[in-house]
Amino acid sequence: MTPLRYVNLYCNTACDSRCTTCTFWKMHPRHWLDAEVLASVASSRFVSEETWFALQGGEFTLHSGADAILDLFADRNYILFTNMLNPRRVKELVDRHDVQYVTVSLDGGREGYARIRGVDAFDRVTAGIRQLSERASVSVGITITPWSTYEDVREAMDWCNAANVPFGLNVYTESRIYGSERRAEPIAPLQRIVDETGDAYCAAHILWSRGELNLPCRSIRRVASISPDGDLHLCHNLDIVLGNIHEARFDDIWSSERTNQLHQQYESCSACWTSCYRELDLEEAR
Ligand code: SF4
Ligand code: SF4
Repeated sequence: MTPLRYVNLYCNTACDSRCTTCTFWKMHPRHWLDAEVLASVASSRFVSEETWFALQGGEFTLHSGADAILDLFADRNYILFTNMLNPRRVKELVDRHDVQYVTVSLDGGREGYARIRGVDAFDRVTAGIRQLSERASVSVGITITPWSTYEDVREAMDWCNAANVPFGLNVYTESRIYGSERRAEPIAPLQRIVDETGDAYCAAHILWSRGELNLPCRSIRRVASISPDGDLHLCHNLDIVLGNIHEARFDDIWSSERTNQLHQQYESCSACWTSCYRELDLEEAR
């Protein structure tokens, strides 16, 4: 039995951001997963001490059942993902549940943030990150898109360095789960960012996009991703659904013969460079 390493739980579509990288905020009807249906995931026999849950939305703090979900995962390793557009709402949730790890997206400086994320909120979000860092371990995710400039990425990294907040770089892909609408075209400033940061994930993306890196996707056996409608996906980038947790228990779907066959069929795939999966493949290849 292969233990799960990461479980991406997209718990709701509702979001108060308007990011160009995602369409959760546009989706109708809206969907959400409640604690009752997530119970079969939290108690899965494939979960171990090395499993980390990513509790995300949409904007997770807008979920009316956020408290019940955090109660459900209280004894598990988890990271709470937020856009931090409402710092007070995030802090109250963190305080109520003694949340230890929080990740916030910051895809540019003041102007770039507004352009890429659709809301003019750089100052509000960065103030919220500073405040919450006194209470929890907060990190920043910076997504580099084909429509990002070098300055966008540089300004976001510079803010993190000045504020002493750890950050990770991510590269935009055409995620089916997020309903991405824009194409993952070549990213002009990526080489310069790699030259300056030495970031291994972005460096590997450049090799992969040139066809110089073909890495099997064994991570599909160790990463599970569930969208707000309850679909358990083979991965982020293929239109393949393994089952739905409203209709069957997580373990029954994950251990089914069909899932096993699909894992076998796609574990040699190298068709995308989505961080949720490929970072783990890269880590295990080293
Ligand atoms: S990327 Fe995240 S914060 Fe932005 S619209 Fe999508 S769910 Fe909301
Ligand atoms: S490499 Fe293939 S199987 Fe792996 S996440 Fe990308 S599309 Fe899915």
